[in-house]
Amino acid sequence: PLSEMTVLVVGELNKRIPARLAERFRVVRVDRGDPALLSEELRAKVRGIAAMAPIDAALIDSLPKLEIIASFGVGYDGVNARHAATRKVMVTNTPDVLTEEVADTALGLLINTVRELSRAEDWLRQGRWISEGHYRLTPLTLRGRKAGIFGMGRIGLAIARRLEALGLSIAYHNRNPVEGLGYAYHPTLKGLAGAVDTLIAVVPGTVSTARAVNAEVLEALGPAGVFVNIGRGSTVDEQALARALADGTIAAAGLDVFADEPNVPQALLDLPNATLLPHVGSASVHTRDAMADLVVDNLVSWFAEGRPLTAVPETAHVKAG
Ligand code: NDP
Repeated sequence: PLSEMTVLVVGELNKRIPARLAERFRVVRVDRGDPALLSEELRAKVRGIAAMAPIDAALIDSLPKLEIIASFGVGYDGVNARHAATRKVMVTNTPDVLTEEVADTALGLLINTVRELSRAEDWLRQGRWISEGHYRLTPLTLRGRKAGIFGMGRIGLAIARRLEALGLSIAYHNRNPVEGLGYAYHPTLKGLAGAVDTLIAVVPGTVSTARAVNAEVLEALGPAGVFVNIGRGSTVDEQALARALADGTIAAAGLDVFADEPNVPQALLDLPNATLLPHVGSASVHTRDAMADLVVDNLVSWFAEGRPLTAVPETAHVKAG
């Protein structure tokens, strides 16, 4: 019976997850994914993990009965899924249920970056509308912009549809063109950056995307260029980006993600032409509840039906039992 199975909840997690899990499983909570925090007796019992925190090879290897890691979020760069696959451990993530929310956030961040809405609101709140008059006309506009999506996946496509409605042209770069998609495909990121003036990154944080947005790409984007990152901070060379924003290589940037969260480089904090958000892409009660439910439903489906709902590609072949 499920009630005798131990599921480990690692780190801070949406409250709905432990609450719903406790209705079915035996739930144990631990602050982080460190085997040293677990007794040998407990390690021998853990069958499943629910986490948003990093899950590394050492933790996976310390749990002989582990069958499934249900990760909160669509990006699962914190979970060593390749290692899990070698141990026949299933890994699941939470795709689709957050796609539209993250695309909404990306659009808000883009518009805010170009039209300076946060700074205009500060102007009003500081009483400067009364004392000094109108907020300045923004040097940047979305009108006439050409957008390039780096990562035309689920969220990339939802962003592209929105940008199309706003009247922007759309091009993209993936490793492979998306079949049947009418937007212009660029086989290299630098080629895409050179063809557009608004680059939106929404790729996963992997070895192959690490620091892909570098000085050369920003140079290609050019002085009218706007860069938005809603994917992962590891995708960007942050020092090169800060330099490009400071010396006018590009015009502005909007960032929801950073390489070493929650630490944001001072060089970016110092820049008035950077709009910075604390990783809020999917962060509404509505969407986080849907993500939490999918974490729980993956665990229930695995243990009750022998199959996950949303396996990550690395472990798609892993079978129950
Ligand atoms: P998908 O897997 O649907 O899309 C990812 C896209 O990136 C694919 O089109 C893929 O195409 C492309 N891609 C992957 N690697 C490379 C590469 N090396 N070079 C070029 N293109 C690449 O994922 P989602 O759209 O659902 O999510 C994307 C990412 O967004 C997540 O992994 C997560 O990290 C981030 N995210 C951030 C959030 C936030 O709060 N800011 C919230 C949700 C997600 P191909 O395989 O052909 O290269």
